[in-house]
Amino acid sequence: MSESTDAQTNPSLAAIGEALRNHQSFVLMSHVRPDGDAIGSQIALGFSLLAMGKSVRLINEDGLPENLTFLKGSDRIESPPAGPLDVEVAIALDTATKPRLGDKALHAASKAKLWINIDHHISNPKYGDLNLIDATSPATGEILYDLIQALGMPLPEETRDAIYVAVSTDTGSFQYPSTTARTYEMAADLVRRGLDVGTINSLTYDDHPYRRLELMRALLNTLERTPDGVVAHWELREKTRIDLALRPEDSEGLIDVIRAIRGVKLALFFEELPDGKVRVSMRSKERALDVCRIATRFGGGGHALAAGIRMPGPLEAAKAMVLAAARETVNAAKQPA
Ligand code: AMP
Ligand code: MN
Ligand code: MN
Repeated sequence: MSESTDAQTNPSLAAIGEALRNHQSFVLMSHVRPDGDAIGSQIALGFSLLAMGKSVRLINEDGLPENLTFLKGSDRIESPPAGPLDVEVAIALDTATKPRLGDKALHAASKAKLWINIDHHISNPKYGDLNLIDATSPATGEILYDLIQALGMPLPEETRDAIYVAVSTDTGSFQYPSTTARTYEMAADLVRRGLDVGTINSLTYDDHPYRRLELMRALLNTLERTPDGVVAHWELREKTRIDLALRPEDSEGLIDVIRAIRGVKLALFFEELPDGKVRVSMRSKERALDVCRIATRFGGGGHALAAGIRMPGPLEAAKAMVLAAARETVNAAKQPA
């Protein structure tokens, strides 16, 4: 099903190692609406490079989300400066397509003469000069752990904690099928290096603002499923976002609540964005119901079991189209092969 042979087009870790060693100044970026893997990956690689004496800027189009401010080193995440940065190398992390870095971040990185693209999205078109794409990896954070180990790079405590949070959040707390023995071995190594499991999990998962629960209540009031119970969806309107003074990160992970319903195989979350576009978040329980394929039909992308779209509104129209595609996918999977 994979469109390209990653193993052959990926450069060796040594090629990236050489690029990291031979340059002095770096800008590290990740996708808009950053999640734990995006910010965690920036901090992880950023602090390893800083420990090597490199000059490093960590920028994100949307800045640092409030729910990740507990990460050590997160205060180095900046919104893009107005003008281009004087850096030799730009590194995109956890970002399926170059435009998902955001216009201001791309402008800030426009003077870089070398682009490195490190990611785990199967839909990544390899837009870097050097690409390290491993679609079998559960998180970009785990690819970075392997890279840092393979190259003998420093692993300071900021990097240690950020890798753990990157992988924990992208695997739904080490639960999704993408989690492997290597993932647990990595986590064990991080714990041996002094990571405080209880504290970091509590800061990641048990420290939500009250408005997140108010959001969940509003979402539950919109919950629907198809008559066969296979597809469930809910939606967030602009009005609710304004009324509850929501931040973009408040909905992070809530889709798992409807994904967890017995009988549900596809979960969808529709969200009206302030610019009039619609964000669609999708989760699947079965590889045969590939949500990345649905997403790519509408210009989005992601993984087989978790994917997203940003598409034109209004919400009703976007919802009708994507739900039709979802039902089609379910019906096609029901047909005997
Ligand atoms: P989300 O539902 O936002 O948590 O995203 C699920 C997965 O799909 C993540 O790995 C995202 O990076 C990816 N993704 C989300 N939206 C898009 C998009 N518009 N284009 C490409 N990939 C996306
Ligand atoms: Mn991400
Ligand atoms: Mn990721």
